[in-house]
Amino acid sequence: MEVDYIIVGLGLAGLAFTEELIKNNKTFLVFEDSSQNSSSVASGTYNPVILKRFTAAWNGHEQLQLALPFYEKIFKKIDKNLDTKFTARKVFNSVGDENNWFTAIDKPTLSNYMQPKILKEKINGIIGEFGFGELKGIGRIDTKELIKRYRSYLSLDEKLKEEEFEYNEIDFLEDGVNYKGILARKIVFCEGYGLKQNPFFNELPLNGTKGETMTIHAPELKIDFLLKSSIFVIPIGNDTYKVGATFNRKDKTSKTTEEGRQELIEKLEKTITVPYTITEQNAGVRPTVKDRRPLVGVHAIHSQLNILNGLGTRGIMIAPTIALNLFNHLEKGEELDKEIDIKRFL
Ligand SMILES: Cc1cc2nc3c(=O)[nH]c(=O)nc-3n(C[C@H](O)[C@H](O)[C@H](O)COP(=O)(O)OP(=O)(O)OC[C@H]3O[C@@H](n4cnc5c(N)ncnc54)[C@H](O)[C@@H]3O)c2cc1C
Repeated sequence: MEVDYIIVGLGLAGLAFTEELIKNNKTFLVFEDSSQNSSSVASGTYNPVILKRFTAAWNGHEQLQLALPFYEKIFKKIDKNLDTKFTARKVFNSVGDENNWFTAIDKPTLSNYMQPKILKEKINGIIGEFGFGELKGIGRIDTKELIKRYRSYLSLDEKLKEEEFEYNEIDFLEDGVNYKGILARKIVFCEGYGLKQNPFFNELPLNGTKGETMTIHAPELKIDFLLKSSIFVIPIGNDTYKVGATFNRKDKTSKTTEEGRQELIEKLEKTITVPYTITEQNAGVRPTVKDRRPLVGVHAIHSQLNILNGLGTRGIMIAPTIALNLFNHLEKGEELDKEIDIKRFL
């Protein structure tokens, strides 16, 4: 078998690069072993405003302009719209928060999202004595369903191999690789935190930050917007909400923990006052990087090997932009954005 590309990993990064290949009529084969699950457990929100500090996420506005039509196209292929648009309300903790909101709103990209009116009315079931700031233009993609459906879509065409990619089986050829009889021009590694097992790229400073979320059923809450206090409460339909997430830099497993659950409960009880039951808990490791920028580029010795990783906490918005940049770099000689190029660590 001969293909242009082998892709290792089918989370948001692998999916975005695969889409570039399909768009450009390249042949490929994807390997996926379910050893990581960051994309499937992600809360799925896209929001270019960092609500902790009222600042703009790195290139967030530009990334979102590319990302929304990108996912829209995929929804047509998989026959299901998985994007829910809503507003968000940021709970203010003090009068100072209100002042900071007004200071931030004057910044060019933030004014596209942050509303100038502060909401002071009490909302049933929510603690918020200092009022709320409102955001527009944001939403959520159901990444669990997206990944599941996209894998089925590739399987139909026999483009997906659900097995581990074994690094020591790569034979290097002059203009490509031979992997267990599959001849490929290039490999793109999109392994998320699984990168740590990859002998060709594991010296890159991928830290990994574990996150846990819970799903709750809260029939008296009745909100149709994303609520942000020290945690997110995201409406996902039928009186259920996703609550998250934790940030743990020590534990690198994808297992749910009692510690994570207790942290979420504690924060939730400072946010809402209505009864709820926990119906689900999930955990995954976000591929975070020391300098908070993606890890993209070509191996210094083996130019057949490439990496698309380090999507951090905002994979939904970032993936389409960096996949396009890597594809254009490999196929059209376009420069890689210096901020994402792994050469910065050489
Ligand atoms: C709790 C939580 C909440 C989050 N919420 C959000 C959010 O609201 N919005 C947002 O934008 N982002 C969010 N994120 C971050 C987002 O999930 C990540 O940025 C993104 O999913 C990373 O995608 P990825 O494809 O790089 O990694 P992954 O999704 O981990 O995919 C890598 C894939 O590679 C496979 N793999 C690895 N090694 C091998 C191998 N040797 N052979 C075969 N397959 C292999 C793994 O099985 C895996 O499927 C959240 C993350 C977590 C954990």
